[in-house]
Amino acid sequence: MLAIRIHETGGAEKLRAEEIPVPAPRAGEVRFRVEAAGVNFIDVYFRRGLYKADLPHTLGQEAAGTVTAVGEGVADFRVGDRIGSAKVLGAYAGEALVSAAAAVPIPAGVTSAQAAALLLQGMTAHYLAVDTFPLKAGDQALVHAGAGGVGLLLIQIAKRRGARVLATVGTEAKAELARGAGADAVCLYTRDNFTAAAREFTGGRGMDVVYDSVGKDTFAGSIDSLRPRGMMVTYGNSSGPVPDFAPLLLAQKGSLFITRPTLAHYTLTPAELRGRAAELFAWAASGALGVRVGATYPLAQAADAHRALEGRETTGKVLLVP
Ligand code: NDP
Repeated sequence: MLAIRIHETGGAEKLRAEEIPVPAPRAGEVRFRVEAAGVNFIDVYFRRGLYKADLPHTLGQEAAGTVTAVGEGVADFRVGDRIGSAKVLGAYAGEALVSAAAAVPIPAGVTSAQAAALLLQGMTAHYLAVDTFPLKAGDQALVHAGAGGVGLLLIQIAKRRGARVLATVGTEAKAELARGAGADAVCLYTRDNFTAAAREFTGGRGMDVVYDSVGKDTFAGSIDSLRPRGMMVTYGNSSGPVPDFAPLLLAQKGSLFITRPTLAHYTLTPAELRGRAAELFAWAASGALGVRVGATYPLAQAADAHRALEGRETTGKVLLVP
């Protein structure tokens, strides 16, 4: 089968399309035919070496498809079931393995492409808005990269919960998408000062919460956008990791709270994982949550998908199809 692997870390040119044997599931694992694999920034971090993996490494953590084999002791899934996961062991491949405990069933009303778009970015948007800072009616939230994979879903979930949302985006075309997802206001942070926009949006008070996936470039401005005792949620490094800072900064800026969450700690048990996924799938199946697939590439062109994602050219979800 075809798989996209790296033998050393670095730029997108390190991605190699290679023929490798179809893997056999070990005890507790399921193998499935990948119908759609999600491209995520975390794949870029592994490729670059910011996050570590043993080499050679088949990239990709998110995919959906149909079960082709089950390992010893797997009771929940059978050959022919449709499943997906955000913890796939090498999703950029024709077939992939996943621990049965990390997989979820895909209901009939949800396509494999939708599932691959929701399992990592959607569950992230879900936990951020529902659990990290549980938004309630009237809360004011700043969502960076609002036309991105997580961003478009996070805006929609925040609006479902009654929050007012200011989104930041890089271009006018992305601003349209963020507005379409429900953002009350949009700031082109490549042109305008988003901290000033946040002050204006909140009548000078400051945001209740900032969801910041951009990291290095926006961290300081995000901190300055918060109200006293507001919550800084730094959950990504799209522009680079956040530099070190002293806790005293939080006192100086208004007794702020800060958290650096990650999806694994918000899908701690199979019950939490399946509950979160099931709610997202139900919203998507009913049309209450729009899932935008901005680009689909053949698996062999994964390097182009990475270049587009890193180059800020993508909107919504980017998928690979074997
Ligand atoms: P996106 O679709 O959001 O793509 C990244 C976007 O970030 C770009 O389109 C761009 O939007 C913006 N951006 C701003 N500055 C830069 C820069 N210097 N280089 C590249 N992009 C930049 O990606 P994802 O939805 O896949 O992921 C969003 C973020 O969320 C990532 O940082 C990812 O690591 C993080 N994440 C964290 C998780 C967690 O649990 N902690 C789980 C999932 C994702 P624009 O042009 O509008 O500025």
